[in-house]
Amino acid sequence: MKNIEAKTILSKLNDSDWLFGISYSMNLYRGCQHGCIYCDSRSTCYHVENFDELEVKQNAIQLLEKELRKKRVKATIGTGSMNDPYMPIERKLGLTRRALEVLVKYRWPFHIITKGVLVERDIDLLKKASEVYAAVSFTVTTANDDLSRLIEPGAPVSSGRLACMKKLADAGIYTGVTLMPVLPYINDSLVEITELIHQCKENGAQYVLVWLGMTLREGQREYFYAGLDKHFPGLANTYRQKFGKDYSCAIPEADQKMAEITKLCQKLDLPMKMNFYNPPRVVQLDLFG
Ligand code: SF4
Repeated sequence: MKNIEAKTILSKLNDSDWLFGISYSMNLYRGCQHGCIYCDSRSTCYHVENFDELEVKQNAIQLLEKELRKKRVKATIGTGSMNDPYMPIERKLGLTRRALEVLVKYRWPFHIITKGVLVERDIDLLKKASEVYAAVSFTVTTANDDLSRLIEPGAPVSSGRLACMKKLADAGIYTGVTLMPVLPYINDSLVEITELIHQCKENGAQYVLVWLGMTLREGQREYFYAGLDKHFPGLANTYRQKFGKDYSCAIPEADQKMAEITKLCQKLDLPMKMNFYNPPRVVQLDLFG
């Protein structure tokens, strides 16, 4: 692990994100301890030199205060796309917690995406933040804990994440599941996805965001195939033949499966879209009315 000085902490997205409702991304760390074999953040296009050496942006909190003070219009800040804000090191460093304290102080909306059950520690802050807007999405890719241990070796198992989501939901926090990526031939059976969606509902999910595929980019692909060779011998060749250098890989029969999933979510009254931050309307005083 190494401490670094960052130049900025909030990155403005070109377009507001239609899936997660995020306008800014915030990464307090670089690299991630969860070690998912399919991790997109390893792609060379992100220019993270050594993803396995964790870097801590030690001036992150000062930068965050400074940058928030300069902004006039509030919009949702997302964290958890390039690394997990609740990976094991966070228990010791508390950087995510301190960042949330700043967001609560300045009343900024945020959306956390995580596989980490440590988020439970911050329920007090999440409750305060909910007066403005706070969403916590748990990434859960399989209902099978043994499979989650293989493909997400450094993260808490799926059942632990779902149980943590239940605690947040019971505390009144807006929370749900990002069911992605779905890896071709690994976690893509409709029976298993159906089971997982039922578990999401039982554990208090207020939405489930489903993507029946994965990215496979330079850098990410090599690491993923090494993981396949270790845990699913022969499967990397199937991927090579079927997907070649494709950037986005859909699971077999994705459309039919999505239609079944949509029906199931409707039956369970489980939205497949999340509610976004709704800025308060500015009331115009009509001085001459
Ligand atoms: S939790 Fe996310 S960022 Fe971390 S290794 Fe897994 S996929 Fe990558």
